[in-house]
Amino acid sequence: MTQVSEQVIQEMVQKVLQHVQTGWGGRVSPTPGAGAPPPVSTAAVAQPAAPGTAMLTPTPAINRFGQFTDVNEAVEAAKTAQRALMCRSLAQRKIACDLIQQICRNQADELGRMEYEETRIGHPPHKPEKLLLAANMTLGVEFLPTECFSGDHGITLEEHAPWGVIGVITPVTHSLPTLANNALNMIAAGNALVCNPHPRGKRIAAYGAKLFNQAIHEKIGIDNLICVITDPTIESANEIFRHPDVKLLSITGGRGVVTAAMKSGKRAICAGPGNPPVVVDSSAEIENAARCILEGTSYDNNLLCISEKEAFVEASVFEKLMDAMAAAGACRLNRQQLDELGRICIEPAKDGQHPHANTKFVGAEPQVLAQLIGVSIPADCRLLYGETNFENPLVQAEQMMPVLPIVRCDTFEQAVELAVKAEHGFGHTAIIHSRLVDHMTYMGKMMNTTIFVKNGPSLAGDSAGGEGYGTYSIACSTGEGLTTPLTFTRLRRCVMVDNLRII
Ligand code: NAD
Repeated sequence: MTQVSEQVIQEMVQKVLQHVQTGWGGRVSPTPGAGAPPPVSTAAVAQPAAPGTAMLTPTPAINRFGQFTDVNEAVEAAKTAQRALMCRSLAQRKIACDLIQQICRNQADELGRMEYEETRIGHPPHKPEKLLLAANMTLGVEFLPTECFSGDHGITLEEHAPWGVIGVITPVTHSLPTLANNALNMIAAGNALVCNPHPRGKRIAAYGAKLFNQAIHEKIGIDNLICVITDPTIESANEIFRHPDVKLLSITGGRGVVTAAMKSGKRAICAGPGNPPVVVDSSAEIENAARCILEGTSYDNNLLCISEKEAFVEASVFEKLMDAMAAAGACRLNRQQLDELGRICIEPAKDGQHPHANTKFVGAEPQVLAQLIGVSIPADCRLLYGETNFENPLVQAEQMMPVLPIVRCDTFEQAVELAVKAEHGFGHTAIIHSRLVDHMTYMGKMMNTTIFVKNGPSLAGDSAGGEGYGTYSIACSTGEGLTTPLTFTRLRRCVMVDNLRII
C-alpha cells in the first residue's frame, strides 16, 4: 500500500476547504463580465483615432466613406469593416443604424430632391416620403431573436449570425431608399455590404452611402460598412456575383438581374418583379375602393412594385367604380385613347416573356402621358384610367406608370381568374375590395402572392397605412418575403453539454 505523506494530506485538506468556501476549487473566481463584450447598456462608443494613432479595430481604406470604382477594393474594405463591426457591441450596431435613420429623416427633402434630379422618374413630393418610410418602417437589432433548447443534456442556443459581406443590387425606381433600407437590415444583422446601384441612380446612392459612412465613422470609428461602386456596370455586378468573399446576394430589380444572380451559384435573396392586380367585387364599398386604388396606383407615379397595375371589376359595379374614380380625381380615357397609350408606352414581348414598359415613360407624370395621345388633363390629376380588355399590353406589362387599365368581368370568379393570369406567377402582391370574407379567402388562395391587401391601398401591404414593418426589398422570387434583419443572417448553434440548466 502506498504511503501518503503528512504534507500531501495537508494539501488535500486545504483544497477541500477552499472548494467548500469559494465554490471554485481554489481557482480565483471570475470577475463578472470580464472577458465578455461590454453589456449592451454600457457599451462605450469608440472614438475616432487621433492622427497618427491606431484604432482599436483598425479599418484600412479609411476616409473612402464607401466610394469605390474597383469591386475587389470595395469587397476588401467591406470585409475589414464587417470584422470591426463584429468586435463591437450590439449597442454600437444600433448606433450605426440610428445614424442612417437620422440622416434619412433629417435630410429627406434634400436627398429626395437629389434622387429626382438624377433619375427624373416618379413624383417629386413623394421622394422625401420614401426616405422617411425607409427610416421609420425598418426593423433593427431587437428583431434578432435567440432560440433556446433546455433539457437534461444542458442548453443549446441557436443564434442569427451575419454572413459577412453581402453583394447588393438596387433598382432605379428607389435608389437611395432601397440602399438605406437594405443597409439598415444588413448592418443590424452584423453584415457589411457592397452595392452595385442602377447606373441611372448611382450618384444619389454613392452620396447617401458617403453620408452614412461618414456619420458611422465619426461616431464608432468604422468606415466602409456600406460600399458603393460609383461607376456601376453589368460587368461590375457580375464581379460582385463571382467574388469569393461575397457570401450572399441581395437583389432588387427586374427579371433579368434576378435570373443573372440566381445563375451565380451563390445564395441569392431576390426581390423581383410583380404585376399586382386589384379586384373589386359587387359587395365592395365603391367610394373607398376608388380612393384606395387611386392612392396606391398613383403613388410616385406607380413606381412601387406593390402598386396596383391593373384592375378587374365585377360588371354589376363597373360603372359605379368608374364614376367614383373620376370623383376621386382620376382622369378617364376612352378605349381608343388607352389602346394608343399602350401602343406608345409598352414594348412587345420578346423571347416568350411578357410585354414590358418602355423605360422612357416609366414613372412619367400623368400629364406627360396624356400629352402623348393628345389629351389635356388638369395639373392636379394624379391618374389616368379607362376600360380595356385583358389582352391590352398595359394589363400584361409591369408598366410602372400612373395609368390603370380596368377590365369588366361577368363574375367575381372570372375577375380572380384574370387577376391570377395577369400576375404571371410572380407571387408578389394582390389587392381586393370586398365585404365578403369568402371572396377574400378564395382570392387569397388563388393568387398565392407574398402580399394580399384587403380594402386598402396596396401601400398598406408594405406598412404605409397598414400594420407591421416595411421594406424596399420584397423577396417574392425566392420566398423570403418582406426582408428584415433576420433575412440576412445564418443560423449558428452553441451547445453546452450537461450543464447550465439552472432549474
Ligand atoms: P432593372 O432590372 O432594370 O434593374 C435593377 C438592377 O439590376 C439595376 O441595378 C441594374 O443595373 C441591374 N441589372 C439589370 N440587369 C442586370 C444583369 N443582367 N446583370 C446584372 N445586373 C443587372 O429594374 P429597375 O427598372 O431598376 O427596377 C424596377 C424593377 O425592379 C421592377 O421589375 C420592379 O418590380 C422590381 N422591384 C422589385 C422590388 C421588390 O421588392 N420585389 C422592389 C423594387 C423594384
